[in-house]
Amino acid sequence: MRRVALALVAVLSVAAFLTPPLAAQAADRAPIVLRPDRVFDGERMHDGWAVLVDGSRIVAAGPSIPTPAGGTEVRLPGTTLLPGLIEGHSHLLLHPYNETSWNDQVLLESHAERVARATVHARATLMAGVTTVRDLGSEGAGYADVGLKAAIDKGVIPGPRMLVSGPALVATGSYGPKGAPEWSLPKGAEEADGHDGLIRATRNQMGRGVDWVKVYADYRWGPNGEASATFTEDELRLVVEVAASSGRRVVAHAATPEGMMRAIRAGVRTIDHGDGGTPEIFALMAEKHVGFCPTLAAGDAITQYGGWRRGVDPEPARITRKRETFAMALSSGVPMCFGGDVGVYPHGENYRELELMVDYGMTASAVVQVATSGNADIFELSDRGRIGEGLLADLVAVEGDPTADITALRRVMFVMKGGDVVRAPTKVER
Ligand SMILES: [Zn+2]
Repeated sequence: MRRVALALVAVLSVAAFLTPPLAAQAADRAPIVLRPDRVFDGERMHDGWAVLVDGSRIVAAGPSIPTPAGGTEVRLPGTTLLPGLIEGHSHLLLHPYNETSWNDQVLLESHAERVARATVHARATLMAGVTTVRDLGSEGAGYADVGLKAAIDKGVIPGPRMLVSGPALVATGSYGPKGAPEWSLPKGAEEADGHDGLIRATRNQMGRGVDWVKVYADYRWGPNGEASATFTEDELRLVVEVAASSGRRVVAHAATPEGMMRAIRAGVRTIDHGDGGTPEIFALMAEKHVGFCPTLAAGDAITQYGGWRRGVDPEPARITRKRETFAMALSSGVPMCFGGDVGVYPHGENYRELELMVDYGMTASAVVQVATSGNADIFELSDRGRIGEGLLADLVAVEGDPTADITALRRVMFVMKGGDVVRAPTKVER
């Protein structure tokens, strides 16, 4: 039996930090010095560094940081302190499909149930050290993500900072749930088409609070259910142009070569999924600095829900192909994004995507960088994703060194969001 002592030199009442209102607390509190074994600043590792937090911001990071008079010292032996993780593709309003199918979640669960579940998901996400999520679609729950974000920002419930995309945009007829053609089934996203229709829908979604406009550049709507392109390139370009004039970016769900090409040429900021990527497509993405969120963990989970026993059965073709696509993207120099499509699998297990990125060929050190400063750069979040003076005090400490062993990200010991300690065990025995 091994004992890891996480000594809190001064008494920190974690429970108190979880009681609303959270917002006022950071400003009232004494400065805090965090003393882990090492600090990963978003790009490089520094042994023996400490980090000083005052209010909601980091005020200093370096090898010799004295504890200010009246300040609090938190010792985190055996840990690495790193910027709070930035999940690039979540669905806080979905829960794993092996519990309830996507169709049944969209059609049969009430919005109240879905929001109640989402509050639990938000908390699990934050406790896993994920302090920001780009949440890519409420999947039939309207603007519940906008409300969830407001509730978190107001300190009503614990959760990560959210970038939301509301209902998202799909071409008429392309998206699910499908069936019963005589009836108009509720859809998992908003249908819009053509010049006037897409301008209006994009502006309407932005006006109702979306931070990112999400489009489905393709979907499984071919004559035999195969994935095929949806919007024309002109339609996609229009959405990008309308979003850009308000200072917003567009993310494309795209899995086919044609859907990916149209979205890239139209000027989207990230391509998510990308299963059908080719060397030519990834080269174009690299040239245009389009981020790639591969959502490896979603495919991995769905294949397992279909009966594949990972580590026991031979690897299905779908997974092998995904490995090859990922390797292609890596060697092309595409800006890689950490975005796992969490919600397909349990919230709080965001680390699954990071472990698969290592399994599929990336170094652990590069993966940790992608999950922090890399995603901050792709999402244009200059106030986070790194540890440095003036940045948001969104910090996580994990047992061990995740740049040497990515599974260290499962062992979250401490989480701070905006200077508030939201997770800090005083002692861990194992
Ligand atoms: Zn998704």
